[in-house]
Amino acid sequence: MKAAKLFGARDVRVGETPEPEPAADEVLIRVRAVSICASDVAIYRNGCAAGGVYPEGPMIQGHEFSGEIVAVGPEAEAPPIGTRVAVEPSWHCGHCEICQEGLYNLCPNVVFPSFPPHDGAIAEYIACPDFSVAAVPDEVSDIEAALTEPLGVGIHAVRLAELAGDETVAILGAGMIGISTMMAACCQGVKDIAVAEPVAARREFAEQAGARITAQNAAQLAEAGIRPKVVFECSGDDAALAECLELVRPNGRVVVVGIPEVDELCIDIVRPRRNQITVIFSRRSLNTLETAVELLATGQVDFSSIPVRTFSLDQAPEAFALAAEGPGRELRMVILP
Ligand SMILES: [Zn+2]
Ligand SMILES: [Zn+2]
Repeated sequence: MKAAKLFGARDVRVGETPEPEPAADEVLIRVRAVSICASDVAIYRNGCAAGGVYPEGPMIQGHEFSGEIVAVGPEAEAPPIGTRVAVEPSWHCGHCEICQEGLYNLCPNVVFPSFPPHDGAIAEYIACPDFSVAAVPDEVSDIEAALTEPLGVGIHAVRLAELAGDETVAILGAGMIGISTMMAACCQGVKDIAVAEPVAARREFAEQAGARITAQNAAQLAEAGIRPKVVFECSGDDAALAECLELVRPNGRVVVVGIPEVDELCIDIVRPRRNQITVIFSRRSLNTLETAVELLATGQVDFSSIPVRTFSLDQAPEAFALAAEGPGRELRMVILP
């Protein structure tokens, strides 16, 4: 089959690779859409993942994907061949102590396609465990089905925050994760959402999508009198956690969703300590796939106007190069293999 592989920093090549064979409890999916996540871009840019994790060799990236089931392993409990599916790409072991607690997103044995050394989905086919797929109805497009992964990240962060509808919320970063988090918060009945985002086109989209007020950065929100009860850090900017701690109201919560480029941060804790701030680190997503599909299918979350740019599989190197130029109007580059 054809696949796009990362050979090293900023070196993606499209070529032939053996087609994966589904194991007994897996399904084989013909990939229809893969969107490039900021974490894929970070690996592309640096040649390694956060925490200094290097691929063992050329690897396939991409974990936000949808497709069609083309083969089912003999023991797999899955929808029939031909079903269009979305995938939760966090493949826990199911046996360890953490999995026994139901904290699948924290499983130490997790296989996450596109996190080294595990191959991802920017290819014609990928094999997935049966428990990770969910059928999607016709109302949900292939691209929207691929975007259930970032939507799941937003849903999980909002669940961790235990948001009440009357709480004021600020979101730093109006990329795909920030917008997903905002829409998930709207589904919880939250109306008062402020968004900080440096890219003008992204601010505009955030306003269309439900933000009450937007500004270029957290300091401008504070100047406008915004003192949110809950702040979601979705920008991945190295300075953002400190900005969240500065912006949040006393006794408020900060939920860290974005992944900073650096592995260590030095933060002034005087104000957050005196103001009794709770900081929650959110990890990927947990049991969010069915919810994400349902929110999209019922129109409670509308992803139909998310700005994306599409590419063929052969154009994968171009898609990565563009994504690595930095945030623009498009929230995602999407490859349609
Ligand atoms: Zn992602
Ligand atoms: Zn486990």
